[in-house]
Amino acid sequence: MAGGSVLWFRHGLRLHDNPSLNDALEDKAAPFFPMFIFDGETAGTKLVGYNRMRYLLEALNDLDNQFRKYGGRLHMIKGKPDVVFKRLWKEFGIRKICFEQDCEPIWRMRDESVRGLCRELGVACRESVSHTLWDPDTVIRANGGIPPLTYQMFLHTVDIIGDPPRPVADVDLSGVNFAALPDNFYTAFTVFEKVPKPEDLGIFLENEDIRMIRWVGGETAALNQMQKRLAVEYETFRRGAYLPTHGSPDLLGPPISLSPALRFGCLSVRRFYWSLQDLFKQVHQGRLGSSQFINGQLIWREYFYTMSVNNPLYAQMSGNPICLDIPWKEPEGDELQRWKEGRTGFPFVDAAMRQLLTEGWLHHAVRNTVASFLTRGTLWLSWEHGLQHFLKYLLDADWSVCAGNWMWVSSSAFEALLDSSECVCPVRLGRRLEPTGHYVRRYVPELANMPVQYIYEPWSAPLHVQQKAKCVIGRDYPAPVVDHRACEHRNRSAMQELRRVLDKAPHCCPSSDDEIRQFMWLGDESQHELDTA
Ligand code: FAD
Ligand code: MG
Repeated sequence: MAGGSVLWFRHGLRLHDNPSLNDALEDKAAPFFPMFIFDGETAGTKLVGYNRMRYLLEALNDLDNQFRKYGGRLHMIKGKPDVVFKRLWKEFGIRKICFEQDCEPIWRMRDESVRGLCRELGVACRESVSHTLWDPDTVIRANGGIPPLTYQMFLHTVDIIGDPPRPVADVDLSGVNFAALPDNFYTAFTVFEKVPKPEDLGIFLENEDIRMIRWVGGETAALNQMQKRLAVEYETFRRGAYLPTHGSPDLLGPPISLSPALRFGCLSVRRFYWSLQDLFKQVHQGRLGSSQFINGQLIWREYFYTMSVNNPLYAQMSGNPICLDIPWKEPEGDELQRWKEGRTGFPFVDAAMRQLLTEGWLHHAVRNTVASFLTRGTLWLSWEHGLQHFLKYLLDADWSVCAGNWMWVSSSAFEALLDSSECVCPVRLGRRLEPTGHYVRRYVPELANMPVQYIYEPWSAPLHVQQKAKCVIGRDYPAPVVDHRACEHRNRSAMQELRRVLDKAPHCCPSSDDEIRQFMWLGDESQHELDTA
């Protein structure tokens, strides 16, 4: 038996700062099998649209190309992980399986069955924590056995734990003994000779291809993108400001976000965190505090992961201990469908929902707008509908991060100001975030000729203006699905009533007004918008 080790890729689709790669190659002479297994759920493939699937496949292709430079390849197989590994053990007598921790509870059964198999066969099973800055279990232990309920408590806990680890050293792949799969694997499983296309996996482009921004998956692109992002951060640090994407969000320019790369682990979060820390030190000779700005954002990600670790019901309302039971209504007529397809008649919401379908991307401020519109702001439908839609289409969709944000925005958890619906009026917010109206014109071409003063509420334009713009409301573009003002009024009363009833029940909530502003990316100038809520 040849022995050997497996590096099982799930998230963590990179070679830099990959402790599992270091583990698997402790003995470079032993046969090495880097693998990705299409099991119908790994890396979020259970509910997935075209854009995210393509991003994932590009990331696998990038790994495959990097291995091929050293005479190896990434093995890509369709099957069940425990069945694939058992077969590999039979054929080769593999001695070690290494993988990065997937901390969310939805992966537990998959990983337990592989751990069980390893115990049964006497194969070493090595799991490393590198998708998060801190091991969620360590955070929970340090907080006395339960996850910190508020973000402030979370910050406090990780301050006590101390700095997250620095990235591990890169591995030199020269001289690695890349192994080939035995022939009988090709009859037992579907083995992909080269990276499949989304269509090969039954995922087809559903939407007209009018996308403006094309995201490219993979470690190589992610590392390049990080350099660009660090250059932006450098300038921002020098100016003494810290959050380039927030104060006045650029909805039109090329996005500088790294969230899809972080989500798939094409970029190591520790690499990004420490690059920012080192850059800050270079500029200010100081230290970027954990709650400060970009670091604070990265820590929201940690917080939501940690909150979900021991809560398998985290992505639903019923039975979820941290989620308030809010009596949402059932969708009436086609209102939910209109929200999903970008036909609500509110141009800012529709532009966003169409951008999501075509590109897989939405700016955070825009996510807040459409999420609020679906839930407490306007339609009063359950956040669970929104979560399912986002999980399918967002490039950076993460089960726990996405659900956590949906609970936040819908006032279901983490948010005490249950009646702050006013700050997300889709007309006023659109005007403030993107006064030129170009964002709407780009994604809602029906409104391309609508004068800017009516672009966010075209129903209020006189008929002759609509005719001149070749966009008559109700004919060329839908009339508003509901009367937003009336809904807002009704919802605010409903939230106040809920708040009265729930007053004494403890639940997750924000620590302060500052935190709400930071979370909602409302610069100081929008204090007023919170106050009027
Ligand atoms: P930056 O400000 O540059 O932040 C750096 C990184 O911190 C991000 O790349 C991201 O990894 C993390 N981060 C920033 N904001 C948040 C946040 N609120 N929660 C958790 N992590 C954060 N983000 C996801 O990564 N996956 C999701 O599935 C997701 N779903 C969301 C759903 C809703 C309804 C809302 C309102 C927000 C959601 N977000 C999600 C958070 C946020 O919108 C994105 O992380 C953000 O747009 C990324 O932009 P950025 O990289 O420019 O952020
Ligand atoms: Mg509950």
